Amino acid sequence: MSKANSPDEHGAEVRASRDPLSGREVVFAPARAKRPGNHDAGIEPEAAGEAAACPFCEGHEQETPPELFALGAKAGRQPDARGWKVRVVPNLFPAFERQQVVVHAPAHLRSFADLSEPQLALVAEAWTEVAERAWAQGFDHLLAVVNEGKAAGASRPHSHSQLVWLDRLPPEIATEAPRLRRDSCALCSLLGDLDPALELAERKLTQGSVSLMVAPAGRAPYELLAAPREHLPDGFGNVELLAAALSLAAEGVRRLNAVEGSSPFNLWLHNFQQDGHWHLELVPRLNVFAGVELGAGIYINTLLPEEAAARLREARP
Ligand SMILES: [Zn+2]
Ligand SMILES: [Zn+2]
Ligand SMILES: [Zn+2]
Repeated sequence: MSKANSPDEHGAEVRASRDPLSGREVVFAPARAKRPGNHDAGIEPEAAGEAAACPFCEGHEQETPPELFALGAKAGRQPDARGWKVRVVPNLFPAFERQQVVVHAPAHLRSFADLSEPQLALVAEAWTEVAERAWAQGFDHLLAVVNEGKAAGASRPHSHSQLVWLDRLPPEIATEAPRLRRDSCALCSLLGDLDPALELAERKLTQGSVSLMVAPAGRAPYELLAAPREHLPDGFGNVELLAAALSLAAEGVRRLNAVEGSSPFNLWLHNFQQDGHWHLELVPRLNVFAGVELGAGIYINTLLPEEAAARLREARP
């Protein structure tokens, strides 16, 4: 990560950084947060009749395409009936050849942050089960994403994830792959010498541990990173570590919501079946990416990562 501190033309300090995983350019410009135009983009409150019309709620199984499978199901349950904990169905409007929806809970829970630990473990299990099916059918990559809130592109408020089967590494992950090789892994360096000013939490398991931190050069305020401390390419290959990472991400969202109010976000797994170091990236969508971000690929972040981490650590969710 290169850093250069210099005052802007009004004398406020700006800091140019480079994300070690992607090489993306980020300019930290805290003074811009005071400028007008930053809007509040919270999660929409629950609409009247929302749960009654929700196809993901238990009892509404006939309103989705027939399920692929369900987890936590009661003995003797028929497909597409009540009595499940996590349900996997094809996407009704797929943009890809294979795309599934993982419904995270039978009740109308509107946030990933509201899922219990056992429920998050079932979500991890559903992701790994779909990954095994994708590999068995010759697909090279499974993209797992959670979109929450309209500002993050969520189609429905009931907590769910999308799983997209791809026949190659998508561009964002292909860009990271050379930086995350075992012999010179930028994420191993980051975690091996983890800046206490950025660290938020750690989960220790018998098979290793997983850390949650504020991204050192995130493209948006409060951008988070969760990853195993050990260099592991395939996140779907160890369901306990994946569940721990999802649990840490949910904790990150609870802390974020305590600081900023309920916040829209995108969460995704960057996974590598060959060499690489898997991780979750969580990008809060409190700001809108504008012309400089999209046109130049240079991200302006109005909150320094150490300040974001300090606020999240102090939060009492
Ligand atoms: Zn629902
Ligand atoms: Zn690594
Ligand atoms: Zn990544």
